[in-house]
Amino acid sequence: MDFNQNENQKMIAQMIESFAEQNIRPKMNEWDEKQIFPVDTFNKLGELGVMGVLVPEQYGGSGFGYYEYVTTIVAISKVCGGIGLSVAAHNSLCTNHILQFGTEEQKMKYLPNLASGKHIGAWGLTEPNTGSDAGNMQTVAKKEGDYWVLNGTKNFITHGKSGNVAVVIARTGDPRTKDNSTAFIVEKGTPGFTGGKKEDKLGMRCSETAEMIFDNVKIHDSQRLGEVGAGFKQALYILDGGRISIAALSLGIAKGAFECALQYSKERHQFDRPISSFQGISFKLADMATQIEAAELLINNAVFRKSKGLKLSKESAMAKLYASEVAVSVSNDAIQILGGYGYLKDFPVEKFYRDAKLCTIGEGTSEIQKLVISREILS
Ligand SMILES: Cc1cc2nc3c(=O)[nH]c(=O)nc-3n(C[C@H](O)[C@H](O)[C@H](O)COP(=O)(O)OP(=O)(O)OC[C@H]3O[C@@H](n4cnc5c(N)ncnc54)[C@H](O)[C@@H]3O)c2cc1C
Repeated sequence: MDFNQNENQKMIAQMIESFAEQNIRPKMNEWDEKQIFPVDTFNKLGELGVMGVLVPEQYGGSGFGYYEYVTTIVAISKVCGGIGLSVAAHNSLCTNHILQFGTEEQKMKYLPNLASGKHIGAWGLTEPNTGSDAGNMQTVAKKEGDYWVLNGTKNFITHGKSGNVAVVIARTGDPRTKDNSTAFIVEKGTPGFTGGKKEDKLGMRCSETAEMIFDNVKIHDSQRLGEVGAGFKQALYILDGGRISIAALSLGIAKGAFECALQYSKERHQFDRPISSFQGISFKLADMATQIEAAELLINNAVFRKSKGLKLSKESAMAKLYASEVAVSVSNDAIQILGGYGYLKDFPVEKFYRDAKLCTIGEGTSEIQKLVISREILS
């Protein structure tokens, strides 16, 4: 494994840093406070190639691999976790699902608009009563001639209201049977398909999270993604890569919080000395730096396996589990280092702390990652 960043990664990190300083940092507190989902920022990120990082150039994307993708998500999330989450969900869930399992016609129809950021993508698996147990979904699709009729509700969906295109996994067989679900592409504006309640969240507040409601939504069979019955298997494949995404999001948040705490510790004086000179603070910084480096190594291991086409369920689950817990712990320590100022909105660490918690929940909770890892090591 080569731990050095390639030229593309360096270029991406610089480009995003400069974009974020001009377009995200000045506005992110307002977006956070008012829960504004800044669609125009995603359109602009699309112009930079950030909304189609993994999409081949022939479909209008940047044509990069997972190393560059991770660099992208880390660089954005170092500034704002909410924007990082939305970019991650758009790229690795909706867009990647169509890229991996779509027909040539579907790819030509949907990927150019998604990759350019003209369209925002959503991906619907979770439902009100089935989160970790997603295989037990209640949303159904029934075949009627050349059409499918969808009924049900998905919740907690990133871009559930504003998404122009959604990949939706619905049950097409009997409950609790094998191969009983199928994936479909549903466009915004299809009769019967509406965005429901927008959630009011602890963190990631500028990333829209909403219900998607399907009331007799009729879609043509040409909108089906892959084989009938393959929906859940496809979802698990997408989530293997998605875990790298959330691990990268976590790493970016941890790095952002750490950098803020490190700088503050050198500038803040108490007892006539910088607080970094107290061992209680410097050891905390040492622990934070070590955890961040360990998380980065686990992510690199998962990315290495992904780029070689090797099995990575265990490695991506380990990276997601560890990096997300590190994001929570590092942002908590960062607040402690800033003392009372860490508790205020004048510094970004309280936002990192609120944003970080999602990482231990979304795309499989920490407990579910342990389930995946233990299954793999016991098999
Ligand atoms: C901000 C946000 C964005 C999201 N975006 C999307 C999206 O775009 N698309 C999408 O489909 N979903 C999305 N989700 C949903 C997310 O993936 C689920 O919230 C997550 O999978 C957990 O499901 P749940 O919330 O129903 O919790 P539950 O499954 O009800 O879990 C509750 C608790 O029980 C534990 N638990 C459950 N089963 C087990 C078990 N077998 N062993 C041990 N412990 C267990 C869990 O770890 C957790 O601690 C999003 C969620 C959030 C909060």
